[in-house]
Amino acid sequence: MPAMTPDVPSALSPLVRRIVAANPSHMTGPGTNTYLVGIDEVAVIDPGPDSKAHTDAIVGAAGRQRVRWIVLTHTHSDHAPGATRLAQVTGAEVLAFSTREKSVKVTRSIGDGDTIDGTEFRLAVLHAPGHAPNHLCFHLDEERMLFTGDTILGGMYSVVSPSTGGDMAQYFATLERLRKLRLRSIAPGHGELIDEPRARIDEYLQHRRAREKQILGLVRRGPCTVKSIVAALYADTPELLLPVAAKQIYSHLKKLRDEGRVTGRDQRSTWTAIS
Ligand SMILES: [Zn+2]
Repeated sequence: MPAMTPDVPSALSPLVRRIVAANPSHMTGPGTNTYLVGIDEVAVIDPGPDSKAHTDAIVGAAGRQRVRWIVLTHTHSDHAPGATRLAQVTGAEVLAFSTREKSVKVTRSIGDGDTIDGTEFRLAVLHAPGHAPNHLCFHLDEERMLFTGDTILGGMYSVVSPSTGGDMAQYFATLERLRKLRLRSIAPGHGELIDEPRARIDEYLQHRRAREKQILGLVRRGPCTVKSIVAALYADTPELLLPVAAKQIYSHLKKLRDEGRVTGRDQRSTWTAIS
């Protein structure tokens, strides 16, 4: 497996290189993956947090004038802010779901069905809401590789938090859609390349369905709060991760409420089952 040393490029395939940003944490795993697609003309997917060292590594690997596009899967702070510095250095255009982003200057909006055409490659754009409403995935036709941002990760599960625009029902729908693609690999926003895409997506779906079932089971036994559900389901989880767990549970409860199966108001209220 290519090393995940920060700011050192590694080749993943004939057309794709990866440079990991130096922002490892319990939320970002080894750090954010920046991908360089193409050789003569390069699309940079997710430049990561703002960092001169990371920008230098990208430009060093690609060549200043070859970077034509900076493409964002979404605009969370571990993926997008580096776009500004990289665009200044390279003159590349910045492509994302919307040009009305506050955190980063997007020069052109892209959406489902659009393509980014380089001399050696075509990236097809898929709208993939769930982790964030403006989340995009990119399919590299030549290698059947899917760049999934935070929709699917290597070595951990994605966070779907309403506080950062997450929506569990949309997330399920997106996974079901991605599952139907004929993929050879998944290049996630964090973690290693995934070479069994269908199995990984199925595992994600199963994990979420099992979690939903557990939550519904608890609420059916009697009124619950997010806190009581966290205590019941995450007894062995390190304290550091419990706030994230609480958001995931709230996200599931919202989905169940929209389906008419539970009632409750917010992350602090009591939730009851509708029989
Ligand atoms: Zn991320």
